[in-house]
Amino acid sequence: LAPPLFADVAGDIDVSFEFFPPKSEKMEETLWDSVQTLSPLGPRFVSVTYGAGGTTRERTHNTVARIARETAIPAAAHLTCVEATREEIDQVAQEYWAAGVRHIVALRGDSPRAGEKYATHPGGYENAADLVAGLRKLHPFEISVAAYPECHPDSEHAQADLDNLKRKIDAGANRAITQFFFEPETFFRFRDDAAKAGINAEIVPGIMPVMNYASVVRMSAMCGTAVPGWMETLFEGLDDHPAARQLVAATLTAELCRKLYAGGVRQFHFYTLNRAELSYAICHLLGVRPRAAAGMIAA
Ligand code: FAD
Repeated sequence: LAPPLFADVAGDIDVSFEFFPPKSEKMEETLWDSVQTLSPLGPRFVSVTYGAGGTTRERTHNTVARIARETAIPAAAHLTCVEATREEIDQVAQEYWAAGVRHIVALRGDSPRAGEKYATHPGGYENAADLVAGLRKLHPFEISVAAYPECHPDSEHAQADLDNLKRKIDAGANRAITQFFFEPETFFRFRDDAAKAGINAEIVPGIMPVMNYASVVRMSAMCGTAVPGWMETLFEGLDDHPAARQLVAATLTAELCRKLYAGGVRQFHFYTLNRAELSYAICHLLGVRPRAAAGMIAA
């Protein structure tokens, strides 16, 4: 008899979760429920994104600072170079350090005007590699950077993108977290190419549980992620069946993680979109269980 699908996962997986800063009180509640649900799983860190053009500067800071204060989980703040001088960005980083935040996800970011080509702000950091070098001069932050298994849309070719990733690691980044992708082979190919390019840092796959197929198709088109034809077939006819859609999404994403695990991956970064259930279910299927010492700090 073949063993059950997930029977051979050995409890040796580390996870991290990404959130975005809430825009309203209601969204804040949803976010906080998600943090409370996912914290007991003992993630290595949870991270909070930074909106285009620094529009979420305050909200990102408040969310990260609250996680740092009220949970036992290391909090990471995303930070971009968009529309700010080096001094302004250094100031934000200093505030994080003062608030006890020791981990930055260092990014270039995109133009806040949709469709416009990215341009370095006068007096700003040129790109993510430059930002990593700047942060390294300030404090001994732990630093994560972005990686693109299907090549960043601004890159002329895959080798230029790998060279760029190597510059970020050489500037002092500790790890790379990937853009989301849907086929395990996409990740394995990229991991091999990165190793050949002399990139020895940890490369953590970014996992996007598909909650809304139409919006994932839109996001994928923007960031150059291929959506396999079989995904459309799988989500077909489920628009009015949210519960069934969740089950399909969980199965699909857990299967991707299982294949990555079989290929040696032990770290996963989940794009939670501030919803805990799917990420929690997938972690459960992967053998990740609540840990006694993890979770919230009692008030
Ligand atoms: P970089 O690595 O600096 O560069 C992006 C591309 O531009 C490179 O691949 C390279 O081809 C080209 N490039 C850069 N510098 C040079 C150079 N000197 N010469 C030639 N080519 C160059 N965006 C947000 O706004 N907020 C977030 O919180 C956020 N979080 C993210 C988290 C993860 C894990 C990922 C994968 C992405 C995230 N993004 C976020 C999106 C990210 O900001 C965009 O993908 C952006 O377009 C590139 O950022 P980067 O840090 O990868 O840029």
